[in-house]
Amino acid sequence: MCIFCKIINKDIASNNILENDNFIAFEDINPQAKIHIVIIPKVHIESFNDITPNIMSEMTIFIQEVSLMSGVKSDGYRLITNIGKNGGQEVKHIHFHLLGGEKLESI
Ligand code: AMP
Repeated sequence: MCIFCKIINKDIASNNILENDNFIAFEDINPQAKIHIVIIPKVHIESFNDITPNIMSEMTIFIQEVSLMSGVKSDGYRLITNIGKNGGQEVKHIHFHLLGGEKLESI
């Protein structure tokens, strides 16, 4: 079982920001910005390559709720999903990184 499925099953503790039946948002254990939240679907999907439009559309609404709840929505934030080897994806369970709470370096 992947590490994010263990978080979903509560086998590993996480600091959750928001959770519903289908998604969880929790604080990244190794934050790269003042606010760094990981957002995942509860269904195990390996990467953005495999996500369906239906799940992506529900996830969009959930991410927007997280951005509001975490206080980054008005000043802006960055949303990243790493895909595969060249994208630097370490955990093979699709996730979005929401980074904010400060001015981020341009990429
Ligand atoms: P990626 O490199 O895109 O696969 O990102 C994986 C992210 O998961 C990294 O930013 C890690 O710091 C984060 N991470 C790994 N394990 C945990 C955990 N147990 N709790 C919270 N974040 C985690």
